[in-house]
Amino acid sequence: MTILDGKKTSSDIKGEIAIAVAELKKQGKKTPHLAAILVGSDGASMTYVGAKVKACDLVGFESTLLELPADTTEEALLLQIENLNNNPEIDGFIVQLPLPKHIDEQKVLMAVHPDKDVDGFHPTNVGKMALELPTFLPATPYGIMELLERYKVETSGKNVVVIGRSHIVGRPMSILLSQKGAVGDATVTLTHSRTKNLKAITQEADIIVAALGIAEFLTGDMVKEGVTIIDVGITRVADATKKSGFRLAGDVDFASVSPKADFITPVPGGVGPMTIAMLLKNTLLACSRK
Ligand code: NAD
Repeated sequence: MTILDGKKTSSDIKGEIAIAVAELKKQGKKTPHLAAILVGSDGASMTYVGAKVKACDLVGFESTLLELPADTTEEALLLQIENLNNNPEIDGFIVQLPLPKHIDEQKVLMAVHPDKDVDGFHPTNVGKMALELPTFLPATPYGIMELLERYKVETSGKNVVVIGRSHIVGRPMSILLSQKGAVGDATVTLTHSRTKNLKAITQEADIIVAALGIAEFLTGDMVKEGVTIIDVGITRVADATKKSGFRLAGDVDFASVSPKADFITPVPGGVGPMTIAMLLKNTLLACSRK
């Protein structure tokens, strides 16, 4: 069994980006600049945004964090987005999800200019991805593709089962893995909460991408020997032995699944760090496109 080490791989990618940034600076070119908008003070969101800003520092990017109160109106948020769209200093920006309930998430994501949409959530970029045109790929699926490629996990002709059909993970994952290409050419089954007899489907899978957000959902009896497991889930589970009072759990029961797996991502240290590395990669692309 091989651990698909997202921590190490993302660190390699960040090293490559840092070299590219140093080269840009040497040539007197613009330093990539990522901005993030955080609305409210949700603990997990603050952690994620903090990690993204820290990663920018690490590779030599400029970063700007806009922290807005939880009662920010939709109109005020849209105004901030417009400012970032029009600010030539900012190469790309993200709006950390989830947003407070009084704000229409779709409207907000549509307001981000596609050329600065380094999360790859705008319909223009989703459409380009589906048509196999160059674009910003959504960071989490992009990170998974990169991990599979760097560990040389064969996907061509394989049965891939994606669990979860969200717009940011499951759906784009199913599109990317079914496309032609080095990491792709797979036969993909996209499953979700209405799927019947999921166990029979996962038992046939060569590769499983679990992205449903239910802690330790996928168990050893649901997979076959030699399977590749990509665990996207991050759920906070109460744990009195931890100082924080919680631990992070994936969607996969590592203890029962890993003995049957050829490749598996751990949680934490798998898909999570890859997501951040690919966000940086998209920002570098946004900057160099100018
Ligand atoms: P979501 O909540 O938007 O969607 C969950 C999906 O799971 C839905 O499509 C639903 O149909 C499906 N589902 C729910 N119950 C199911 C069941 N019993 N059987 C089969 N399918 C079922 O999820 P999301 O935003 O894609 O996030 C999924 C998980 O991944 C969460 O834990 C989230 O925190 C995590 N996540 C991690 C990263 C990362 O960087 N590692 C990035 C994004 C999301």
